[in-house]
Amino acid sequence: MSGFDTLDPWLTDEQRAFRRNVREFFAEDPVRKAVAALGVHEPREESGLLDVYRRLGERGWLAAAWPEEYGGLGLTAVEAGIVLEEMVLNGVPEDQHVLSIDTVGQLLLLAGTPEQRTRHLPALAKGEQIATVLFTEPHCGSDLAALRTRAVPDGDGWRLSGRKIFNQKSQFAEWALCAARTDEGPVRYHGITLFLLPLRSPGVVINPVWSMGDERFNEIVIEDVRLTAEHIVGPVDAGWQLLNDMLLLERTGMDFQAKLRRWLDIVVADARRTGRLADSGYAQRIADVDAQLKAGRALAWRMVRAQVSGEPDPVASAASKWFITQQSDAVVRLGADVMGLDGLLSRWDGEAPADGLLESVYRQSPAHTLASGTSEVMLQIIAASGLELSS
Ligand SMILES: Cc1cc2nc3c(=O)[nH]c(=O)nc-3n(C[C@H](O)[C@H](O)[C@H](O)COP(=O)(O)OP(=O)(O)OC[C@H]3O[C@@H](n4cnc5c(N)ncnc54)[C@H](O)[C@@H]3O)c2cc1C
Repeated sequence: MSGFDTLDPWLTDEQRAFRRNVREFFAEDPVRKAVAALGVHEPREESGLLDVYRRLGERGWLAAAWPEEYGGLGLTAVEAGIVLEEMVLNGVPEDQHVLSIDTVGQLLLLAGTPEQRTRHLPALAKGEQIATVLFTEPHCGSDLAALRTRAVPDGDGWRLSGRKIFNQKSQFAEWALCAARTDEGPVRYHGITLFLLPLRSPGVVINPVWSMGDERFNEIVIEDVRLTAEHIVGPVDAGWQLLNDMLLLERTGMDFQAKLRRWLDIVVADARRTGRLADSGYAQRIADVDAQLKAGRALAWRMVRAQVSGEPDPVASAASKWFITQQSDAVVRLGADVMGLDGLLSRWDGEAPADGLLESVYRQSPAHTLASGTSEVMLQIIAASGLELSS
């Protein structure tokens, strides 16, 4: 793969062998065909549970860092990072994985009860089920502590009502991790609780909201759904810290850097095909973007290694996410210049180079600076916690 260094000095021999195995898996004919089939769908259609996830799950690779009893391999965040990176480089959509494994699953490992872990983690690790996240609301995204979804006490349980937006994949998921207010106090970071909401409950309505990109968002309307103690993850009223711990583990920048690398590789392959790579103007710009992506990749891997040494750093994670997602625009604009008008044909137009990937990612790329925390929020974390600047 161009511009992609497989000899990362931080990998052990075993980890290099692990990467080779994962790479060979993605090169297998049935897997390549299954991945190619993911791109074949009508506009406004999305693939459901991915067969390739199940295949990864059978090998224990989907959640490689989880203990074996929960369907993992008991390895480290490095092996998990290798799987995620290879998955994305090979064109497998990573959002299900990030939501199910890196977000909800990680949180259950961190704060779930033994019963919750036993019940949910093996199915997630095997790719048989997915779980999603219900944080954002119509009036609050960045300012999540302003959320209005409420759970009110009801005997030995709770009744949950509210409206969530910009959720992904709930149409395929059994469970969603839902942040709700359980107490109104003077400190708004107190009084937030995390619930595992069964999405097939009466009282849960999933409405599609199509985005500018190809992925579907959902609005989720929750009306008076009864939940009990078994649905609560972590302490009542003290979910805010957990939320931040969870986002920190998810926010390495690994998925974004791998995606941009894949896009750039496709642009370079097209430039080679059309002879534009010989033009020093294009070559110079490609080299420039390539260098930025290598820097982004180095940052992302540093975050993964910090997790392994038990020292995840919220400021460095924010910097990694900010830096790499700032490159999205440069990659797609470079692609548009290098691939020209043909590059703007969509996969449904036929004759589109690279199966219309550029047209699709052109629409998708602005979301990078919003998803899992906007660029401004990342800068705020860096300014407030890293540089200790107050507003
Ligand atoms: C691809 C994608 C997938 C997503 N998946 C999910 C999901 O599965 N579940 C879920 O719950 N949510 C999901 N989201 C929602 C995402 O978390 C929110 O979009 C994000 O938190 C921003 O919230 P918002 O859209 O309400 O924007 P706002 O918070 O309204 O922000 C709008 C703009 O104002 C800026 N801004 C806001 N506050 C400040 C400030 N204090 N200082 C400076 N600038 C500020 C922001 O940076 C942004 O540019 C997803 C979003 C995307 C794009």
